[in-house]
Amino acid sequence: MRPARAQIDLAALRHNYRLARERHGARALAVVKANAYGHGAVHCALALAAEADGFAVAFLEEALVLRAAGIRQPLLLLEGVFEAAELAEVAREGLWIVVHHEDQVRMLETTPMAAPIHVWLKVNTGMNRAGFAPAEVGTVWARLKACRQVADITLMTHFARADEPQVITTADQIECFQEATANLPGARSLANSSAILGWPDARRDWARPGILLYGADPMPAPDNGLKPVMTLESAVMAVREIAVGEALGYGGRFVAQTPTRVGLVAMGYADGYPRTVPDGTPVSVGGKPSRIIGRVSMDMLTVDLSALPTANIGTRVELWGTEVPVNRVAAAAGTIAYELLCNVKRVRLEYI
Ligand code: PLP
Repeated sequence: MRPARAQIDLAALRHNYRLARERHGARALAVVKANAYGHGAVHCALALAAEADGFAVAFLEEALVLRAAGIRQPLLLLEGVFEAAELAEVAREGLWIVVHHEDQVRMLETTPMAAPIHVWLKVNTGMNRAGFAPAEVGTVWARLKACRQVADITLMTHFARADEPQVITTADQIECFQEATANLPGARSLANSSAILGWPDARRDWARPGILLYGADPMPAPDNGLKPVMTLESAVMAVREIAVGEALGYGGRFVAQTPTRVGLVAMGYADGYPRTVPDGTPVSVGGKPSRIIGRVSMDMLTVDLSALPTANIGTRVELWGTEVPVNRVAAAAGTIAYELLCNVKRVRLEYI
């Protein structure tokens, strides 16, 4: 069997969820959209079901998968609905929806539903991606309140730069939210992972932790005690020596300056390991530090075994996880851990 796999540590997931809840000091919706950032939404939600206050996904289809798997907790659609026809199912399944756009308000005003639903009214406090302008919030709130289809209204916003502790915009967004919603009743929700960890002023009734659940700390100097959940690993499947001056792999990017012992590993960009990483990107081989050399191919990549004489066919290789932080690989690839984790595919997910 091909040794490529992603091991998912559900105890680490529970540890991270508890940490988020304790730090925030309030309820937390575990964000399990995009197949729980690549970790398997059903497994992750079931692992958290006994203690999670609720879950959040992006859209209806993601929520229905969780309901079908027996998740009965509150379940919020972060993108809300795209068309009125979805509202019947939203009501039937008791889902909560974000309302961020005029079209969605109109759908709620005009669509009969079997049961009223809980909406989260999104305020645009400066990210300028989704949500109502602060000046419109009172009016929209009143329209929603007047809807027979709306049971309850939570007020929310989302931060653009909470992972940058020195940047003032998060404080500005908090203040803007405060002002826009000062006269409105109801629960509030501001914080994503980085705000939970870095912005105590963002604490309100609900947090919405995503990436921190999976153990990838979004803050610049991570020391928050998160545990990595996914370990992406494979094994050496062939070993060869290349001589000085010989090039390795597509494009001949790596050229040996000294005799080099190369390990071929069953993992490639079709599995979600990023093709963009340069030579020198860290990996762990048999528990010891090593590095990528040569371009990552679709199914394979190559690592430097020159300093690891005992490494051989079958030796375990960790691409990221407990020994190699996913944030380090993401930085090498010019991206963020979110993207790497979401992109894992084709490999077996094994739960421990
Ligand atoms: N809240 C909203 C509205 C989101 O869109 C997301 C993710 O994109 C999250 C919370 C979770 O964010 P993070 O993974 O940074 O905690």
